[in-house]
Amino acid sequence: MGSLAERWQSGLLRTPGKRVLLKATESSNLSLSATTRGISHFSNFMAFPDYLYEKLRRVLLSAISFSEICSSNPLQEKWLYSIWSHQRINGNALHTLTGEPLFILHPGFHSLEAGPDFRNALIRIGNNPPQQCDIEIDLGPSGWKQHFHEGNPAYQNVGLQVIWNLPEHFIPPVGRPILNLKEFLDAPQKELLEWCLSDDAQSIPESLMGKCCEYFPQLSENDLDRLLQQAAQVRLKSKSFEIAATARNYGWEKALYIHLLRGLGYKQNSWPMQRLAEVFPKNSHSLLEAQALLLGIADMIPKKLSNKDDSQNEYALELWDIWWHHQASLTECILPESIWKLSSTRPVNHPQRRIALAAHWLTDPHFIDDLESWAVLDCTIKDAQSALFDLLKPKQGDPFWEHHYTLRSKRFEKPLPLIGEERVSDLFVNVIAPWFWARTDRVHDPLASKQILNRYLSWPTSGKNARIELALKRFYGATPAPKFKYAYQQQAVLQITSDFCAKTDPCCHHCPLPESLRQCLHSAV
Ligand code: SF4
Repeated sequence: MGSLAERWQSGLLRTPGKRVLLKATESSNLSLSATTRGISHFSNFMAFPDYLYEKLRRVLLSAISFSEICSSNPLQEKWLYSIWSHQRINGNALHTLTGEPLFILHPGFHSLEAGPDFRNALIRIGNNPPQQCDIEIDLGPSGWKQHFHEGNPAYQNVGLQVIWNLPEHFIPPVGRPILNLKEFLDAPQKELLEWCLSDDAQSIPESLMGKCCEYFPQLSENDLDRLLQQAAQVRLKSKSFEIAATARNYGWEKALYIHLLRGLGYKQNSWPMQRLAEVFPKNSHSLLEAQALLLGIADMIPKKLSNKDDSQNEYALELWDIWWHHQASLTECILPESIWKLSSTRPVNHPQRRIALAAHWLTDPHFIDDLESWAVLDCTIKDAQSALFDLLKPKQGDPFWEHHYTLRSKRFEKPLPLIGEERVSDLFVNVIAPWFWARTDRVHDPLASKQILNRYLSWPTSGKNARIELALKRFYGATPAPKFKYAYQQQAVLQITSDFCAKTDPCCHHCPLPESLRQCLHSAV
């Protein structure tokens, strides 16, 4: 069979019970990969060849062309986002397609919400003063029209479109500066691809870190908590002032409904939902009547029904039977259909389901009383949470809306609740707690104020929030941010963002927080 070396040169060496592959390496070291019943290991008597790992990586990378991937892979834009947020470009030589010099003073913050890809960037074009704007990243310039950005108000603050593929003979549009990213990369495309696949590309770009990220991680648990409690109470107070202002016009009860419906509208539909609560005629209605009036005012009852004889049609007909009696008297209140933003709404949170739920609250004669009793309930926070959930979900159930996303959608068998625990928590911290706080403050009831404040401060965190995550990256940079247990901590972060980050530019100019944190830390030493 020859020497070990000969057998190795032949590429295959068999030993009883295992199949062993041996290969020569450039450095004449032996590389051995043994597979025994599916388990791989390296022999301990042969050195692992130099540079093998790098070579394997290169085999993969040489099979991938950056351009090809960018034109076919769904991850394509993710890589462009990395290149942009880490500014892997030659920043001194940039110019737009029309030849104007371009300076990126800050690339902006990557947004995971609907709208432009990067928000709040700071750029300078030609001799113009620096401009705070959004950045849209598209594979080609046509993305602007194909993705319906043209005329979309969400994109009106876009100051620069960044593209990857520039079509031949493309004529730059007037009024929309475009940067052809590919022309200004700071490294060859292949090298950049390697970087895109590395952990570096996933790391937090320096531009994201706020000036305070030097100090936040040094705060003691106590100091951080004091800061967050103060910020959260400012938020609670300012929300309670807002509700008190509504109550001056509408009374406390209606003010609560107005703000609850706003909360049900999420960010996209808070205004039309608020409007529905404002104009809803205050009489005693049955649940079906209330749903008909609210959906009628929302201009959501279908004008044409399908030919099918099903529960969907039956319910819509019942709504029409009620709505047509009231339509004339409420004409001035009817909202235009176009006011509803549905593009980034999950079917389960469709405004029609939210409106149907609101009708349950508006027609429950005990709703406010029950809420008041709940506020003084002496119980654990867990029990308070589940009691509030029971109070806000439809008491009798809802045979239509628990099985439909919209008035036109097909019935689904398994019932879906009209409200979830996360929304209940959001409504508590944003509406219910501030509403009670405003009222107890008004009647100078310090005991009741303390009670609601305690509940507010011990309410557990609700779900994830992209704004909070971005803020924590800015505050903590590469240091892992603390894991929050309480909703007030999340509220505090939102308050700091709106008080400081939103009032300065993305480079944190004039933000007083870092200096004051530095002084606190200094005085604590
Ligand atoms: S603006 Fe202020 S609070 Fe916001 S990240 Fe910058 S330094 Fe921090």
